Amino acid sequence: MQFIDLKRQYARIENEIQNGFKRICESVQFIMGSDVYQLEELLAEYVGRKYCLSCSSGTDALLIPLMAWGIGKGDAVFTTPFTFVATSEVVVLTGATPVFVDIDKNTFNISPTSLEIAIEKTIREGKLIPRAIIPVDLFGLPADYDEIIRIANKYNLMVLEDAAQGFGGVYKGKRACSFGEVAATSFFPAKPLGCYGDGGAVFTDDESLLDIFKSIRIHGQGSDKYDNIRTGINGRLDSLQAMVLIEKMKIFDDELEKRNKVAKKYSELLKNKLVVPYIPNDCVSSWAQFSVLAENSWHRSELQQKLKENDIPTAIYYPIPLHLQTAYKELGYKIGDFPVTEEIASRIFSLPMHPYLSDEEIEFICSKIN
Ligand SMILES: *Cc1c(COP(=O)(O)O)cnc(C)c1O
Repeated sequence: MQFIDLKRQYARIENEIQNGFKRICESVQFIMGSDVYQLEELLAEYVGRKYCLSCSSGTDALLIPLMAWGIGKGDAVFTTPFTFVATSEVVVLTGATPVFVDIDKNTFNISPTSLEIAIEKTIREGKLIPRAIIPVDLFGLPADYDEIIRIANKYNLMVLEDAAQGFGGVYKGKRACSFGEVAATSFFPAKPLGCYGDGGAVFTDDESLLDIFKSIRIHGQGSDKYDNIRTGINGRLDSLQAMVLIEKMKIFDDELEKRNKVAKKYSELLKNKLVVPYIPNDCVSSWAQFSVLAENSWHRSELQQKLKENDIPTAIYYPIPLHLQTAYKELGYKIGDFPVTEEIASRIFSLPMHPYLSDEEIEFICSKIN
């Protein structure tokens, strides 16, 4: 069994993708071809934003707005320690300091209460200037944006939504990627909307910010191609990836519905045995992962072992919270700093999740767990 079965998805769209590859190969417009611009329009409309700028990865999609805001040395950027390392990596790359904030025990997303406490503490200490918040839509569930944006406004901070896992999710009637000044997503193949390589996108409603993003995406170029007006990156999405994404968008809503059916069935069959995902009534998850809690790390290992014996793959997102990673030793965090994150990290594991998981497969997986 596959953890994420991209082969079944490919079988569904094989003809369209093969025709698209042929068309682009024959046009030889590999970089910034018409598919790239078509995709940007399609995605902006889908999430309900004025502008979308495609780029080379989810990591670059997070980096570009931080660079555009001029965030750097001496600045504090608040985020969760329970996420993929790229979320805080981009902060460090700009020279700023990530300030970690514990998560909510039910949603596993950044806790607004802890966020406000961390901002107050940072202001009191006076060593760093609070500049931005990067909430993460973990496993596909949007963070609590009403509260986060209220806090951001109170302290005059930018919000950068990390929707790398959240594309397709909904919070109070609005789609993921529509929150904060800027949102970023990833098209890494395993994400809810994935391409056939690396890719990402940035979303905003601010036209002047979009112009800066465009410049940064191509080495900081100005209106004269050979006079670069700032330091940028090589951050373009290529036409082949854009074509794949355009084709996948045609089946995306159907896939989202299927993922939600899979999640519902899993939850019903497992709720008496494990802690199953909590999705608030006014939210929809895009189910980047279906993650459950075992009783403790020993119980988790036992379940993972049993599943492995039955050819059922599992994964742990994330075994080591960011504040305890070697790369961040110098930030001075220690075990016990974020008790909710640390407890969840010791109990969580993820089950196979994709739109093409059959009822029989779900029943088989759950019977082994039960
Ligand atoms: C995958 C991921 C990223 C990075 O995306 P890439 O396309 O792999 O660079 C950033 N944040 C989160 C939460 C992710 O899951």
